[in-house]
Amino acid sequence: MTAPLRLFNSLTRELETFEPIHEDEARVYTCGPTVYNYPHIGNMRAYVFADVLGRMLSWRRYKLTHVINITDVGHLTDDADAGEDKMEKMAAEKAQSIWDIAKHYTEAYWADVKALNIRGPMKQGEPEAAHWSIATDYVPAMIEFAKSIADKHCYELDSGLYFDVSTVADYGRLARAQTEEGEGRIEAVEGKRNAADFAIWRKTPPGETRQMEWDSPWGRGAPGWHLECSVMSGQLLGFPFDIHTGGIDHREIHHPNEIAQNQAFCCTNGLDDPLNSGAKLWMHNNFLVERSGKMSKSAGEFLRLQLLIDKGYHPLAYRMMCLQAHYRSELEFSWDGLGAALTRLKRIVMAVERLKETAKAEPEEQPYSPPEGVAVQALKDFDAAMADDLNTPVALTKLEEVTTIKKCPAAVKLGFVEQMDSVLGLNLAGLTRADLRLRPKGATIGEAEIEDALVRRKAARAEKDFARSDAIRDELSAQGVEVMDGDPLGWEWKLS
Ligand code: AMP
Ligand code: ZN
Repeated sequence: MTAPLRLFNSLTRELETFEPIHEDEARVYTCGPTVYNYPHIGNMRAYVFADVLGRMLSWRRYKLTHVINITDVGHLTDDADAGEDKMEKMAAEKAQSIWDIAKHYTEAYWADVKALNIRGPMKQGEPEAAHWSIATDYVPAMIEFAKSIADKHCYELDSGLYFDVSTVADYGRLARAQTEEGEGRIEAVEGKRNAADFAIWRKTPPGETRQMEWDSPWGRGAPGWHLECSVMSGQLLGFPFDIHTGGIDHREIHHPNEIAQNQAFCCTNGLDDPLNSGAKLWMHNNFLVERSGKMSKSAGEFLRLQLLIDKGYHPLAYRMMCLQAHYRSELEFSWDGLGAALTRLKRIVMAVERLKETAKAEPEEQPYSPPEGVAVQALKDFDAAMADDLNTPVALTKLEEVTTIKKCPAAVKLGFVEQMDSVLGLNLAGLTRADLRLRPKGATIGEAEIEDALVRRKAARAEKDFARSDAIRDELSAQGVEVMDGDPLGWEWKLS
C-alpha cells in the first residue's frame, strides 16, 4: 500500500491529500522568472521545488502537465502598482531593446535550469517535461480576459484599468491580508477605490512611448503583471486545475490577485471551496536567505549559479543543498553549507560508481535474497517521505541507506537508486566523481601551500579525524587541486 500523497495547501493552511481533478492527471502551474536580469540562486530554489513536485507526481504515475511561464512584460519594480516596469528599466540602463534583454536573460535562465537538472525545454517531447510559456505571446488573450471581467469587476483611471477587489468574495484569504497591516503594504495609486486594487491594464502616459505596448479598449499600454498568470494557467490547464506554485512572497500580493481575477473570470464565489480560486492547491516554497545581502540583483555581484560554478562548486551541489532542507523551511545560504552538500553528493556519487563497477562483475540472474527486501522497504520509506509533503531531507537518507545494504546485488541497489533519483533529480546515473571536481576560475594556488595542506591532512587521518581530513581535501579541491589517495603512480595531487 502506498502512502497517500499529502501536500500543504497555503489557501487552507492544511496538509491535504492530493486527489486529481481529472482522473490520473496532474495539472500544475508555476510562476516563472522575470527575465530582466540573471536569476539568483534563491529564485532557482523555487524551480528546484517545482521540479521535485512535478517529478513526484510523475513518479506516482499521474500524467503531468506542468506549465512554467517566462515573464517578459508587466512586472513592476514594486509588486503593487508603483515603480517602473522591470524590463523597461533594464533596457534603458543597458541601452538595448527589451526583446534583446528578454532573450539574453531567458537563455541565462535556461542554462541554470539545465545545470540544476530541472526538466526544461531541452527535454520537450518527453511526456513529463515542463511546458514553458512566454507572457508576450499571450497579450491578445490577456486583453480578451480583461474585457470579459471589466464591466463587473474593474474601473478605469487615467493611469489604467483597475480591478476592484471588493467585487469578489474573500479577497486576500491566501495572504490572510484583510488586516490593516496587510493592506498597508500596498502603495496607493491616486483614485484607487481600495488600497489593494491592482492594475489589469497600464496605459502608456500621454506623450510617452514604451518599447512594449499594445492597443486595447483602454488605450495603448501594457498588461498588469498578475493578468498573465491567470490567462496562461487558464488557457493551458483549464480552470480549475490541480496545483499552483510560487515563492512565499507571492502568497502576499501576486497570488491573491491572480485568485481574484480567476474568481471574476470563472464567476465563482468565496474561497471556502478552494476550487473557486482557480486551483485546488496553492503551494509556496520558503526563501533561501543570505545575510550579507548578495541575493539582491541590484547589489552588483550577486549570488547566481555561475558564481558558485566559478568558485569550483558543481551546480548539483546547490540542488543537493536545496533538497537537504524541507521546501517550507527557510534555508540559509553559506559557503560551508554548500561545501558540505558537495561532499555529501560526492560520497553518493562515489558509492554509485562502486555499485556500477560491482554490478558489471555480477552474474545476471541472482536468486531472491532477504537483503533485497531491505531495499524494497527503503524504497517504500522513500516514497512515504516524499508523500509526506515532499520531505526530501528524509528521502535523501533513504537513498543513502540503499547504497549501503549488505549482501544485496549491486544491480538491484542501482535500480532502486535510479528510481529514487528520478524524483530527486541529482542525475546520479550520469554524474561521475570527476564531473564534480570543477576547477575554480583563475585558481592560482602554489605548491608549498598544497604540500602544507597535505601534511595537515595526513596528520588528521592519522588521528582518524576524517571530517577534518575531508574538509582539507574539499578546501584544496575548491582551489582546483585534486588529492589522489592510493594513486598507483604515487602522485598525491594534481591540478585539475
Ligand atoms: P521573480 O523572477 O522575481 O519573479 O522570482 C522568481 C521566483 O523566485 C518566484 O517564485 C519568487 O517567489 C521566487 N523567489 C524570489 N526570491 C527567492 C528566494 N530568496 N528564495 C526562494 N525563492 C525566491
Ligand atoms: Zn505568476
